[in-house]
Amino acid sequence: MRVLFVTSEVFPLIKTGGLADVSGSLPLALQHLGIDVRILVPGYPAVLSQLSDLKPVATLNNLPVIEHAELMLGTIVETQIKVMVIKSAGLYERDGGPYSDVNGQEWLDNPARFGVLSKVAAILSSPQTPMNDWLPEIVHCNDWQTGLTPAYMKLVEQSHTKSIISIHNMAFQGCYPPEWLSTLALPHTSFTSEGYEYHGQLSFLKAGIVYADAITTVSPRYAHEIQTAAFGFGLEGLLSKRGNEIKGILNGIDTNEWNPETDPYLSKNYSATKLSGKQKVKTALLQELGLDIGASNAPLLGIVSRLTHQKGLDMLLPNMPRLLDIGCQFAILGSGERALEAAFQDLAERNPGRISITVGYNEPLSHRIMAGCDMFVMPSRFEPCGLNQMYGLAYGTPPIVNATGGLADSVTDTNAASIGNKTATGFVMNETSPEGLLTCIQRALDVFNRNEKNWRQIQKNGMAQNLSWDKSALEYLILYKNIVQ
Ligand code: ADP
Repeated sequence: MRVLFVTSEVFPLIKTGGLADVSGSLPLALQHLGIDVRILVPGYPAVLSQLSDLKPVATLNNLPVIEHAELMLGTIVETQIKVMVIKSAGLYERDGGPYSDVNGQEWLDNPARFGVLSKVAAILSSPQTPMNDWLPEIVHCNDWQTGLTPAYMKLVEQSHTKSIISIHNMAFQGCYPPEWLSTLALPHTSFTSEGYEYHGQLSFLKAGIVYADAITTVSPRYAHEIQTAAFGFGLEGLLSKRGNEIKGILNGIDTNEWNPETDPYLSKNYSATKLSGKQKVKTALLQELGLDIGASNAPLLGIVSRLTHQKGLDMLLPNMPRLLDIGCQFAILGSGERALEAAFQDLAERNPGRISITVGYNEPLSHRIMAGCDMFVMPSRFEPCGLNQMYGLAYGTPPIVNATGGLADSVTDTNAASIGNKTATGFVMNETSPEGLLTCIQRALDVFNRNEKNWRQIQKNGMAQNLSWDKSALEYLILYKNIVQ
């Protein structure tokens, strides 16, 4: 079976968040199941410079905005996955990130940049494809950036290929003024409430949801949540109409990339049976971050996150003075909203040796925080799947999470019953509030400080989970088979 996996970011070429991790590891797991997968991404500089054997394979004609582009084919060195790349200097070869410039301002022509990505995916699945030796049976779209693909496939390209849209986050929908319809050569006749119109705007994500043959999201619980007003961001009505067709498939993690036994970023590797190495990583981390080492039995709480309202870390801030009073230390890595960055920086300056905040994006440090901390804090207000809590499980760093989406689906709260039957893997908040978070952290500290045996058990339970893609990739395969029938 041939699958074209369309995405706006893919690890290790370019990453801003979990979507890149999934785009790097799910295709590999599918390939192991015998699927012939190719990824399609925009030709950002980081993509062009890192792929091996990159060569032009076709010219793409009749594109909106830019008329022509070159289609290239290369390979990700680490995984040998084939990647198709749209080379367009005007659209994609710029300094900055995939969505915004170096100052964090969104590119104004994002509808053109991702409209073209969507259109190319549709062309590659159509009878007019310039790559007729490789016609996909499934086009697997991801998030709003690829949302127009199913619309182009059905309404313009007369493609016979089936499409899937995977929703990684309902909060981002790609809504733009209707003038873009003409620029992107989309039929005006479908600019209706049954089509891709949303409150007078063109909605990329809605187009995907309306025209895709199947819809998935990244955890079973989030599949239900997005059908409610609290989590649907206005599309809950449409989603509940297609409720029976929405499948929640929990993300896996790349267990080669995220494995404490082999992680090259750690000063010492460790495993569930040799947890002593974790203590050495903690000491090295305290040193690296300039935190007090004398307090190395003090609980070290880790955070690696986008600093946005979604992630709920504003609920941690008012609790930090109290947590410092009872001996906690913090290792924080993240970037996002300036006010949150500044609030954490201010607290860190006033508490040298106790709080470290690194503002920015740092892959190696994220691994060391995951390994060196005693517990990982992730109180997201909503979380489609979340990967960091799973990295925490794999690294023996029990996660403290809110009861939402993939966090609820992947972490088992610690209580008498789950300690008894050895299923406890972390701590789950029972209320989305600063008080709810504090109570949850205090429960974790109680076990950490007073009951080493139970703490070890919780760590080991988490480390014993099968977090790999094996099971979930199989679920995608079954879904692919169902829709091509
Ligand atoms: P989201 O995709 O919503 O940001 P996830 O938990 O699904 O959240 O995935 C986030 C991914 O991005 C993880 O791999 C995490 O380690 C990584 N990450 C987030 N912020 C940073 C950062 N500042 N530095 C390094 N990695 C980060």
